[in-house]
Amino acid sequence: MNRFSQPDTAGHFGQFGGIYVAETLMTALKELADAYETARRDPAFLAELRHHLKEFAGRPTALYHAGRLTEHCGGAKIYLKREDLLHTGAHKINNALAQALLARRMGKRRIIAETGAGQHGVATAAACAKFGLECVVYMGAHDMQRQALNVFRMRLMGAEVRAVEAGQKTLKEAINEAMRDWVTNVRATHYILGTAYGSHPYPMMVRDFHRVIGQEAREQILARENRLPDEIIACVGGGSNAIGIFFDFLEDPDVRLTGVEAGGRGIKRGEHAARFAGGKLGVLQGCKTYLLQDPDGQIELTHSVSAGLDYAAVGPEHAFYHERGRIDFTYATDDEVLEAFQLLSRLEGIIPALESSHALAHGIKRAKALPKDKLILINLSGRGDKDVQQVEGFLGKPACSTFA
Ligand SMILES: *Cc1c(COP(=O)(O)O)cnc(C)c1O
Repeated sequence: MNRFSQPDTAGHFGQFGGIYVAETLMTALKELADAYETARRDPAFLAELRHHLKEFAGRPTALYHAGRLTEHCGGAKIYLKREDLLHTGAHKINNALAQALLARRMGKRRIIAETGAGQHGVATAAACAKFGLECVVYMGAHDMQRQALNVFRMRLMGAEVRAVEAGQKTLKEAINEAMRDWVTNVRATHYILGTAYGSHPYPMMVRDFHRVIGQEAREQILARENRLPDEIIACVGGGSNAIGIFFDFLEDPDVRLTGVEAGGRGIKRGEHAARFAGGKLGVLQGCKTYLLQDPDGQIELTHSVSAGLDYAAVGPEHAFYHERGRIDFTYATDDEVLEAFQLLSRLEGIIPALESSHALAHGIKRAKALPKDKLILINLSGRGDKDVQQVEGFLGKPACSTFA
């Protein structure tokens, strides 16, 4: 294992991470940490997970040479890791499947989850349907309106979607409700958290379940180019797709790792979700990390064109590598993201998720700045089918008007 990798037994990555929950949840987290510790060493568990990732989720995903995008940028050669091709449309199924298997192994037949845009909810609902587990998804009432189609998808697959009416009625409140449910029903219930965030062991465990992205990409690029990429770029919400592709390259100092946060309408209070461009150390929802907060420590409102990156805190392991200088962080604004979204669609016939378009927007800038013998690998974390209606609205005209 690499020298950066493991948090201490209380889940600290340096000064970040840890366990900040009510006493009633300590037992559940300990039980989960123990179960995960044995599962990750059990060849039977790992073999079963590998089987489902292949047969159900569609792994391995392709490494794709974006030839026309490369030509358009005129610089470094661009590769995309195609997590958008996975079942349910994004990397989230890697983690949802693995945690559902772990829950079954722990004898827990009831699953709860939070969801913002609905992608994690859909992945969890699919995994629960597959394994015959009861599934309850908490979702802010406001998000349920914005993402009505994902609500319908979850219900089709047998999940119960519960509307959360508190506060802003979005992701943060949905997580609070899920934690409340877990405290009450802990004996028979497992909480499938959707990103590399929260109290230990979640950040470490979710990371491990997404490491397959980087492991595959490493093999694939070595086979294609006979060397490692010069830079890997991924978008960062909670941080799961990014840490998943970065992790197995942390020990390669010549591979630059860049995380791209949501720059929204620019770095002004309440207008973005770039935690490393204005956040401060604090504790939110079980975890110590960089947060967007006002001078009194109240959580700031955030904004992003992509719901999946619109959260006030960042995964603790990213905060740690930021401090150590191993991962660079930058942001892309809504306008840059909408540009990248359209460019990839037009040049490559691939419609990316708005979240992934953040990584693309920065990757395009970097490709233009670097010479042709450099290699850039961009994690295409998900597909954009869920976003086309919203983008049509932003562009202020029907998406097909040019062809009418
Ligand atoms: C949820 C989501 C993200 C953001 O979550 P991370 O945990 O930061 O990866 C990014 N891309 C897509 C497609 C998503 O659905």
